[in-house]
Amino acid sequence: LERTFSILKPDVVAKDAIGAIYARMEAAGLRIVAAKMLHLSQEQAAGFYAEHEGKPFYLPLIEFMTSGPIMVQVLEAENAVQRYRELLGATNPAEAAAGTLRHDFGTGMPPNGTHGSDSPESAAREIAYFFEDNEIC
Ligand code: ATP
Repeated sequence: LERTFSILKPDVVAKDAIGAIYARMEAAGLRIVAAKMLHLSQEQAAGFYAEHEGKPFYLPLIEFMTSGPIMVQVLEAENAVQRYRELLGATNPAEAAAGTLRHDFGTGMPPNGTHGSDSPESAAREIAYFFEDNEIC
């Protein structure tokens, strides 16, 4: 089985959509094998999004991601990375297909509701950024 990494961003946590999104993940065959709530520091957010440093949306992204609590998850399934990317939809909620999480729960950019790893390699790096091995079941 493959693992991927997921964030429910501050916008969806603030609107009490954690349960609804967890239900959608589970219905898509993605098993939640680790989860916790965090309020990211500037340093944690900057480290996670280091690849975007210098881009026009970098500062708004860091401000948004530190604006309130988030949920981080490890999801497990066959083809978990691709399966979760399909559930997420396009990065911009305005372009995401109906029925995807970003279409249904995102409101704009940066507040697009959810994050998912873009490859198994990214997933391994992102999981290790937030979880110890013994926190994953
Ligand atoms: P994520 O990494 O959150 O899954 P992604 O990989 O689909 O998203 P990236 O291009 O890595 O998209 O951008 C990371 C995040 O930065 C996006 O999810 C969004 O919140 C924000 N973002 C990206 N592009 C823009 C933009 N043009 N304007 C504002 N915010 C943006």
